[in-house]
Amino acid sequence: MSDCLFCKIIEGEIPAEIVAENDYALAFRDINPQASTHVLVIPKVHIASTRDLNDDNIDALSQMALLANDISNSESINDSGYRWVINTGDDGGQTVFHIHLHLLGGRQLNWPPG
Ligand code: AMP
Ligand code: ZN
Repeated sequence: MSDCLFCKIIEGEIPAEIVAENDYALAFRDINPQASTHVLVIPKVHIASTRDLNDDNIDALSQMALLANDISNSESINDSGYRWVINTGDDGGQTVFHIHLHLLGGRQLNWPPG
């Protein structure tokens, strides 16, 4: 999508601190980190939100999960623990409408979320 911020990061049109990638997913550091590790994992195809997952594109979510696990290892937060977050829609607090998994770790995270 030409007007999508994260598609532009995939295309290299907007800079980002890339952490890792595989054939299907890309991971980069959040520009406004909420923990010492705050990485966004996105599919390389445009999927707006969890509401748009379907039989044809669900493999992208698996690839995002596998890439997130690679990063948990490389960031050394496997043992201490971490959180995956995917916000959806207005009440979910989604601000960028290209599905993304937040990988947060490196500090004690609170529950319930705000
Ligand atoms: P969400 O609110 O779940 O849609 O998350 C969007 C996230 O994208 C926020 O945590 C932002 O800080 C982050 N973000 C926005 N623009 C950029 C950017 N150019 N590079 C990296 N992260 C970004
Ligand atoms: Zn996009």
